[in-house]
Amino acid sequence: MSSIDILVSEVGPRDGLQSIKAIMPTEAKKAWIKAEADAGVPEIEVGSFVPPKLLPQLADTAEIVEYARSIPGLAVAALVPNFKGAENAIKAGAHKITLPLSVSETHSQANLKKTHEQVYDEVRKIVELLNTLPTDQRPDFEGGLSTAFGCTLEGEVPEKKVVEVAVKLIELGCDEVGLSDTTGYANPAQLRRLIKLIRAEVGNEKLQGVHLHNTRGLGLANTVAALEEGITTVDSSLGGLGGCPFAPGASGNIVTEDLVFMLDAMGLKTGIDLDKLLLVRDIVIAALPGEDMYGFTPDAGLPKGYAGNGWGIGS
Ligand code: ZN
Repeated sequence: MSSIDILVSEVGPRDGLQSIKAIMPTEAKKAWIKAEADAGVPEIEVGSFVPPKLLPQLADTAEIVEYARSIPGLAVAALVPNFKGAENAIKAGAHKITLPLSVSETHSQANLKKTHEQVYDEVRKIVELLNTLPTDQRPDFEGGLSTAFGCTLEGEVPEKKVVEVAVKLIELGCDEVGLSDTTGYANPAQLRRLIKLIRAEVGNEKLQGVHLHNTRGLGLANTVAALEEGITTVDSSLGGLGGCPFAPGASGNIVTEDLVFMLDAMGLKTGIDLDKLLLVRDIVIAALPGEDMYGFTPDAGLPKGYAGNGWGIGS
């Protein structure tokens, strides 16, 4: 983390692919992950350890994790809905596992088929398992605070509730919590408030990452608000592929290409080569014919004479 300012975590192979019907061939996934790692993306969420019956698109997650681990320097993240998933993720060698918990209990029941108490039980079991592992085999364990900014089923989600769930997850032994705008309801002021409130309870180092959507066009505005609060990890999806299949109307993670352009132009180091990153799209487009790919930067191209990191600073 020392040579970069902001860690861009690509979630397309998980978040993007889980919400489209087409199944990307395993070899294409590997090519995508390899190309993006080669472009300098430091962390990729490569899949989710859910039953293949539920998400056949991600049935090859164990193989993909094992492959991604062979790429030097790449941090390999995976989503785990429960203890069983965590066991499989650990077996496959994931560096980081994220268990999403919907702060809205109605959404939790719809998404994970579990009440909060049931999810907390899974978290307890996962922490027990992690504690039996040697340090060098122990993945980071993040609790993802889904629907933190509002829920398609319940509407407003009380900020007090978000803080309460965050505190509980840390108490149970998660290494960190992440704020997730599953539904695309977030706005910059709300984001600032929630980051401050949660950090005041759990400590700055326990909340480093945000997962934002661009459902209402506020993805990058929200990102800047988060950065100004000291957030250092931002999730995004190449081509804005995907969204949340359980949150009707919510589509489009923030676009990795636009995010990296913004950070790069602002003079923040991501370690990512923007020209190389833009070329990765071709792999995804070829593997998913007819699938929508988003992004303003890929359409518009880089500004004339764009000279990279910190463009315009001092001129
Ligand atoms: Zn998402």
